[in-house]
Amino acid sequence: MIVFAPRENAPGESRAPLTPTTVQRLVGMGLEVQVETGLGESCDHPDSEYESAGGKVISDRDAALAEADFVFRVAKPDIAEITKLKSGSLHASFLDPFNDPDILQAMAGAGVTAVSLEMIPRSTLAQKMDALSSQANIAGYTSVIYAAERLNKILPMMMTPAGTVSPAKFFIIGIGVAGLQAIATAKRLGARVTAFDVRPEALEQAESLGAKALRIDLGGDTGGTDQGYARELTPEQLEKQRQAQGKVCIDSDVVITTAKVFGRKSPVLVKQDVVDQMKPGSLIIDLAAESGGNVEGTVLDEEVVARGGARIVGLGNFEGRASTHASQVFSANLGNFLEHFWDKEEGVFRLDLEDEILKGCVLSHGGEIVHERFKDA
Ligand code: NAD
Repeated sequence: MIVFAPRENAPGESRAPLTPTTVQRLVGMGLEVQVETGLGESCDHPDSEYESAGGKVISDRDAALAEADFVFRVAKPDIAEITKLKSGSLHASFLDPFNDPDILQAMAGAGVTAVSLEMIPRSTLAQKMDALSSQANIAGYTSVIYAAERLNKILPMMMTPAGTVSPAKFFIIGIGVAGLQAIATAKRLGARVTAFDVRPEALEQAESLGAKALRIDLGGDTGGTDQGYARELTPEQLEKQRQAQGKVCIDSDVVITTAKVFGRKSPVLVKQDVVDQMKPGSLIIDLAAESGGNVEGTVLDEEVVARGGARIVGLGNFEGRASTHASQVFSANLGNFLEHFWDKEEGVFRLDLEDEILKGCVLSHGGEIVHERFKDA
């Protein structure tokens, strides 16, 4: 059985789906592992490290795609590359299935078993394979480091003979995996942190990290789904939220927004009138930029200066700013996925579509779209 990791070709993608450590682990399981030349160049793993780990470095990408039983990558593939995959092979990566139905059709058409990493259930058993979490955690950290670098202020309070410098004020909207890591990082650097989430349990988690929780009575049900995700707010609830948090935004040096609603466009939580009232030099980092953005005026992969001098940062792939560690944990997620379903005796992948994890994340198999949520799309 052959595992192949092609070099990422999405613009700006600095992560690699496999690191030498995981390659060594897969080789130990009896798999042949092939990686494309330069796979780990942007995350500090030269080809020689992959070879030392027992992998084969391949320059003929198309031939390797056609031969592999498992293809692992970070970003969703081009449709043209899907047609090059071997029928019956398993392809695992982020697939963006809610926004890109053509990919699913192409995967089914090619007879490929498509695993969408976004769809791995948020269960205790699947935690070790959960790439959304492993990457959000790094993005939460790097967003704060980026803000610290870009802000013309220091983060901690300093009492000096020349006077007292106040701590920088951070406001984190959305206290999921990325938000919690952003809070922890900003607190470690000495900032004063306020945070808000629609899920009450998330507010308690923020407080346990030393942040001040902003409590807003939105009325109605604001609890999470059985997967731990937020429910979509009504337009009235969203308006209440925007009203109640506007002053905190205006008073902050840095606002980091991470609020997502699974399978839907991210809600707009900070409107232009609030952005325009933020102080010159203040920053809004919109970590939801790739799913539509939480801030009115966000432009994906750009920085926009608002009327009052605040900057809206809509850069994508914040996790890729720490590409070595982002790749380390992403690759471990894939290794854990493969190993979990690997039959050591037989040396085969046990594809049981009734298994809770596989039922959640396998979207196409045997020439058809098999996932309940996408079958009729
Ligand atoms: P996410 O990326 O979908 O969303 C980020 C955060 O935004 C969430 O906390 C969500 O509640 C919040 N949000 C949504 N709408 C909002 C609004 N209008 N205002 C403010 N905040 C809003 O979420 P995530 O980071 O992937 O994690 C979601 C939950 O799943 C968390 O509770 C997390 O701890 C849990 N989780 C569990 C497991 C597991 O058990 N294996 C794994 C990962 C995550």
